[in-house]
Amino acid sequence: CGIFGVVGVTDAANFVALGLHALQHRGQEAGGIVTYAQDTGFNSARRFGYVRDNFTSQSLMQTLPGSIGIGHVRYSTAGSKGQTAIRDVQPFFGEFSMGGAAIAHNGNITNADALRRELIERGSIFQSSSDSECIIHLMARSMGRSIPDRMEEALRKVEGAFSVVAMTRTKLIGVRDPLGVRPLVLGQIGDGWALASETCALDIIGADFVREIEPGEMVVITEKGVESHHPFRRAKPRFCIFEHVYFSRPDSILGGRSVYETRRQIGVELAREAPVAADLVCPVPDSGTPAAIGYAHESGIPYGMGIIRNQYMGRTFIEPTEQIRNMGVRLKLNVNRALIQGKRVILVDDSVVRGTTSRKIKEMILDAGAAEVHFRIASPPTAWPCFYGVDTPQREKLLAATMSEDEMREHLGVDSLKFISLDGLYRAVGEASGRNAVQPQYCDACFSGEYPVEPADQIEKGFRM
Ligand code: 5GP
Ligand code: SF4
Ligand code: MG
Repeated sequence: CGIFGVVGVTDAANFVALGLHALQHRGQEAGGIVTYAQDTGFNSARRFGYVRDNFTSQSLMQTLPGSIGIGHVRYSTAGSKGQTAIRDVQPFFGEFSMGGAAIAHNGNITNADALRRELIERGSIFQSSSDSECIIHLMARSMGRSIPDRMEEALRKVEGAFSVVAMTRTKLIGVRDPLGVRPLVLGQIGDGWALASETCALDIIGADFVREIEPGEMVVITEKGVESHHPFRRAKPRFCIFEHVYFSRPDSILGGRSVYETRRQIGVELAREAPVAADLVCPVPDSGTPAAIGYAHESGIPYGMGIIRNQYMGRTFIEPTEQIRNMGVRLKLNVNRALIQGKRVILVDDSVVRGTTSRKIKEMILDAGAAEVHFRIASPPTAWPCFYGVDTPQREKLLAATMSEDEMREHLGVDSLKFISLDGLYRAVGEASGRNAVQPQYCDACFSGEYPVEPADQIEKGFRM
């Protein structure tokens, strides 16, 4: 999901809408905005679909006055599978003795089922099926004297991955979980402040990037400035390495590094680890593009756009049902036959998950007359599901969970298939000596099966690590 908040600007809702539009790649199913203005109180709007199709209408935006606001773009992970109900669309809102608060959450709470059961037993009335709603109910039960105090107390009971943007009538609040699994950045715009999942959302509103919120940090922002707290026990950060590979936008800066540059570097590492004689390096757009550029540069093999992407389609993976995803490949990608014909083609993509996209693409390339097809993948085999906010399928559906690399090559029907090594990926994100096996610098559970936070709810449902 994508989250955004702003305080100290006129017409906050317009800034939030712009920020969410820049974060649309993090969730395309639905979006919501909450604002506060003294004469109208809190106002909110939650809608299915793209930000640009909803939060551009004058009549809707007029219902969201105020100089403070937050927003969320949704991509359903754990909790409600398939169809999202409008009641699951964030931000969520709660009324407390000291006033109202709205929150928007990116990540996944790994003990949400247990918390929900306990809260319901003690009288909480849940409105949604979302794991994020627990935070509101935990806040309601807290004895804290202020909303930030209550949030602190609530979040200390929550396990898993969370970046949160919240607001009261006067305060904008940002929090990252102790491991800092999901991103969150701080920006400044005139006398105002912004919080966003990624820096690309600061760019769009013309805000200056100030810094990342630190893992385990809570910032409370008023028009007077930014106050920083560290409410959690300190831990070694484990940022999601897959944000670098796929999830974030290439024009964002993560951990002081350009995502584009990291992806290009992954391609360079791949070319060193897995060279092959060929005539053309071709990305699977858009997610494979920077890595393909790096691969071509390092190998000296010409780069070309052998697959053209229809710009009117969103991210395929993020479409929640298998059927839409299957159709999605043809709706989204088409082969540039004139370029491919008779050539030995290296296809570079970011990941192989179920293998459905990869198989279709290979067929399209061969139908167009390619002489050979070689797959090079910018991440290690995805063999484990993510429980921290990226919607990977169940383990059984992951190609790499049930097949060796050789079997995958056979299944996909390509001449060769190579994945970047975990160490190669770490080098590309700037860890010169690779992955620290004792204390990994990132979360890489979907590749390694080493989960930095025990997925308690999943284990209860029978998941075995
Ligand atoms: P597959 O070939 O496994 O069916 O699909 C892989 C494609 O899904 C890749 O091109 C990748 O860009 C895309 N993808 C989108 N979102 C995700 C995600 O959250 N996880 C993974 N691993 N791949 C994703
Ligand atoms: Fe990121 Fe993978 Fe960890 Fe999920 S399991 S947080 S996708 S690295
Ligand atoms: Mg892709």
